[in-house]
Amino acid sequence: MSWTLMIHGGAGRIERARTSPEADAAVRAALGVALDAGGAVLADGGGALDAVEAAVRVLEDDPHFNAGRGAALTASGTAELDAAVMDGRAKAAGAVARVSFTRSPVALARAVMERSPHVFLAGIGADAFSRESGCAQVDNGWFVTDERRANLAELLARGADAYDVDMKYGTVGAVARDADGHVAAATSTGGVTGKRWGRVGDSPVIGAGTWADDRGCAVSCTGAGEFFLRVGVAHAIDARVRLLGEAPAVAIDAVLAEVTELGGTGGVIVVGRDGEAAWRFTTPGMNRAIRTSDGATRVALYGDEG
Ligand code: ASP
Repeated sequence: MSWTLMIHGGAGRIERARTSPEADAAVRAALGVALDAGGAVLADGGGALDAVEAAVRVLEDDPHFNAGRGAALTASGTAELDAAVMDGRAKAAGAVARVSFTRSPVALARAVMERSPHVFLAGIGADAFSRESGCAQVDNGWFVTDERRANLAELLARGADAYDVDMKYGTVGAVARDADGHVAAATSTGGVTGKRWGRVGDSPVIGAGTWADDRGCAVSCTGAGEFFLRVGVAHAIDARVRLLGEAPAVAIDAVLAEVTELGGTGGVIVVGRDGEAAWRFTTPGMNRAIRTSDGATRVALYGDEG
């Protein structure tokens, strides 16, 4: 049986004219390394859950994306990280919000799923569970990069809202369908620049930014979390695929239309139980890539790359 791995590194105002050749090359290279990591799992007969975690861990460590190292910063200049995983086999799920010291938030989300009786842990308690379960720890400063400091300074200087300034969502995510026909999804993010008051977006919320169900599809989102939360984007897409029999691209378009109607923007990746995959976005670009068991690989950033 064939397998499919699709990943994203955020949607937004990702345009040729605004991207240096170095950044373009670095993002493409990182997406390629993430595909290699997740694809190797699937090529070895491994499961979709292991593949999506492997791919997302690569992107978390890469400072070009808003997850792990290089995460968007809170108004006080710290990193508060959110992540989720879901395994379509038994609809098992794990999620964390506002964690500060875990090097790989997606690995912690998986630990919540596999080693706690819970689905969603947040803040201080999630940090404590992370230490107790042996996840790799780092200082909060490890996540903070000069570029993100500059983004925050600009936002604060303008007194602007995160969505006004850059509209560049760098959240990372992966969806996979393995050779046994199981699907899984993972998403990891720093949220939005300048966030306050313990703000949490859609990414770690099961059914909003992340979802997987073997009867339908696996979904990972990036975009303006406030709108994705209100539409329940990931679950709504799966429901359309599973109950209406829509193709992934058709289901994504229908649900993103609801996001647009509310005033939000973003993008989504989906892989169905039959391996049919689709990516769609309402922004100028989305960092994205796909690899399939027949050896085909595609990496794209801008809207005009199809
Ligand atoms: N969806 C994320 C959030 O609202 C942001 C992103 O996609 O970069 O937290």
